[in-house]
This record gives sequence, C-alpha cells and structure tokens, in this order.
Amino acid sequence: MNEYQFIKDQDPEIYATLVGEEERERKGVELIPSENYVSKAVREANGSVFTNKYSEGYPGRRYYGGQEFTDIMETITIERAKKLFNAKYANVQPLGGAAANVAMYFALMEPGDTVLGMDLSHGGHLTHGHPTTAINKVFNFVRYKMKDVDTGEIDYEALRQVALEHKPKIILAGFSAYSRELDYEKFVAIAKEVGAYTVADMAHIAGLIAGGVAKNPFDAGFDVITTTTHKTLRGPRGGMILIRENEDIAKRINKAVFPGMQGGPHMNTIAGKGVAFGEALTPAFKVYVAQILKNTKAMEVVFKAHDVRLLCGGTDNHLLLADVFGSLGITGQEAETVLDEVGITLNKNMIADETRTAMDPSGIRFGTPAMTTRGMKEREATKLAEIMITTMQAKDDSAKKVELQREVQTLCEAFPVPEKFV
Ligand SMILES: *Cc1c(COP(=O)(O)O)cnc(C)c1O
Repeated sequence: MNEYQFIKDQDPEIYATLVGEEERERKGVELIPSENYVSKAVREANGSVFTNKYSEGYPGRRYYGGQEFTDIMETITIERAKKLFNAKYANVQPLGGAAANVAMYFALMEPGDTVLGMDLSHGGHLTHGHPTTAINKVFNFVRYKMKDVDTGEIDYEALRQVALEHKPKIILAGFSAYSRELDYEKFVAIAKEVGAYTVADMAHIAGLIAGGVAKNPFDAGFDVITTTTHKTLRGPRGGMILIRENEDIAKRINKAVFPGMQGGPHMNTIAGKGVAFGEALTPAFKVYVAQILKNTKAMEVVFKAHDVRLLCGGTDNHLLLADVFGSLGITGQEAETVLDEVGITLNKNMIADETRTAMDPSGIRFGTPAMTTRGMKEREATKLAEIMITTMQAKDDSAKKVELQREVQTLCEAFPVPEKFV
C-alpha cells in the first residue's frame, strides 16, 4: 500500500515532492553528521492525531481539557529521557535545539550576563552566540578555543583565564564541528571556581551518550544538558533539556520553555520522541552507536593513508573534519558539489583558523550516523572513504565520476533504508 495515499489523491504537487525526497534519501549516501533516518514507528507517532491537541503547560497542570492521553504520553517520554541520560528532570517540549538553548539561557541568566562557550570557528554552534543571532543581542558571549587544532585538545588554561576575567554565568561545552571527547571534569572545576553553571549542548552526540559510547557530562557533575532529538539520537526533529538534579533549575527551565518562549507543545513530536527514546533504551541501540564509531574510525584510517589532514588529528565520535583544500587542492565547496554528483551528501565546513571564506572554505565535514542506520559497517565505510578521495582527485574526469556514481548506487541498493530498529 502507498503510505501517502491521501496526499496522493488530494494534493499531487506536495505528493510529488514526498516521492522525490523518499527516492533521494534512498539512492544517495547521507554523510551529513547531523542527519539520520528515523524508524517508521517514529514517523507514525510524528504524523499522528496528537498533532490535533493543544497541551499548554505540563502533565497534570494544563491550560486546556482533554489531556488524559497527552499527560500519559508526555510522562512516558519524560521518564524515558531521564533514564537514558541519568537525569532527575527532563523537559521534552523544546521545538528544536536552538529553542532549547534560548530557553536555557533565559532560565539561567539575566540580560547582559555572560556565557563562555566554544569558539564558533573551532566547532561551536550558531546558537552559542553567533553575531547574526538574536540571542547575541541579549547576552554577552566570550570564547575558548582548541590549544592545538591538530590534536583537538581544548586550551583549558586559557578557558580558565577567560572565566576568571569575565565571570560568566554559564560555561557551555558542546559543538557541532569537533571530533574529540571533552574533559568535562575540567569544565566543572573551573565553573566552581567562578560560580558558573555548567551546560553541555550535546545536540550532535546525544545518541552516543545515551548508548554509552561517549562520556555523559552529568557524570562529571554538569548541571544541564541541552540537545536535539533528531541527530545521533535518531528521533523526530526537536529539542530537549535535561537537568541533573537541581529542582530549582528544573523549575526555571520549565518556566522558560513555557510560557517563557513557546506556546502549545507539539504533542505529535513528543510522541515521536517517546518512541525514539524507547528504541534508544534497547540493546540494539548500543550496538548501533558502537558501530557509528567503528565506521568513522574506518574512514579516518583511509583519509590518513592518503595524507589528508584531519582537524583534531582524527576522531573519537561520529564525525570527521578534513582540510581538503590544504591536502588535495580542492575547496570545500568544490568537494561538496563533486561528491554530490556521485551520490554522496555532506557539507563544506570552515576549518579552525580558516584562511578562505564561509561560502567556499577549506574543509568538509562528514559523519556516519545515517549510513550506519542503513546497516553499513567498516567494510562499506572504508569503501566510501576511498570513493570520496578518488572522486575529489578526479573532480574533472566525467567518465570516472560516472563509474564512481555507479559504485555508490550499488552500495545503496545493497543497504536499503530500514523501517524497524527493534
Ligand atoms: C544542531 C545543533 C543545534 C540546533 O538544533 P536545531 O534543532 O537545528 O535548532 C544546537 N546546538 C548544536 C551543538 C547543534 O549541533
């Protein structure tokens, strides 16, 4: 049966785009490290009747009637989130990672207060105070960086000096373009010294933490974790805030999300989060995230064998950053375009201490969460890395690119996008 039967009958224009997107997702290799394929169960929840319901407030304390099922469902989702991350409190209503961060800032600070976060050019995210964001007009952002871009080690001594000088209210760990583990204990020690909250934005690596293959910042004593739910965690597009143990912080976070920032929560998405968290609690999910790491390691080996410079000197997580301009003489934009031609999707990326422009930087960023969901293992990761390098070397050779595109297609046909993970 066609799963989009009603759309097909009623709205051929939108239907055509759905069919196109489904085919696009199936026939190319997705290496954008922030993307993934969710289960059919998650999509059913996301497309469910819960989209009809207004549920402003929290379970047991709502502004509208008719909450007998939403209350049960949101409570289940919260309990699963707490279990996954070993948190005492969870707010599952943020509409995305950006919304979660904005609510967190307002919960923990007053306008004009200071956040100490990762330098954006060294891996930090837009929502960590990029000049073009609204939040940058409200709070003051100061930065720490890597000490050595070729090992990825954070300059904790400089971080401490900046903290002592600027007295931030929040010390923020977390990134979207960085491939090493952080020393969370050091963040906590410095935060104690200056009286700051510790917040980890784990948007990219939440799945790795939930599955036990990356360190949980709560184990080192972090106060708060913000995250997306749709990256390695493999849930619907959305956000979440976790609080380790402090009830006062939890109350302020809840108020900041609603009514502070948002109106009615998207209950259909919360149901999708609940289903995804249920999946993440299974042993199969641990196997999945362990394979993500094995696959990025396999790719790292190939890139190193070809003397391609990797930022941070390699990877501990689900992603890699390669200086393709410095190593292969192809710009990040050119690499993105030529890889797209052979069916490999990834993104250009600025590298630390970039000398080129944001629109045509030196690097590419790629990762393995989505290809691992398709069941690809080290052998396929190795093959893909080799195809990537050959493609970048043969960027002007049309015949070669056709050949490479066929190889990618064969690989995709052998690893269809799955619908069930448990
Ligand atoms: C992806 C990401 C976000 C933003 O998430 P959205 O759901 O796109 O708003 C925030 N922080 C980090 C570190 C991210 O990687």
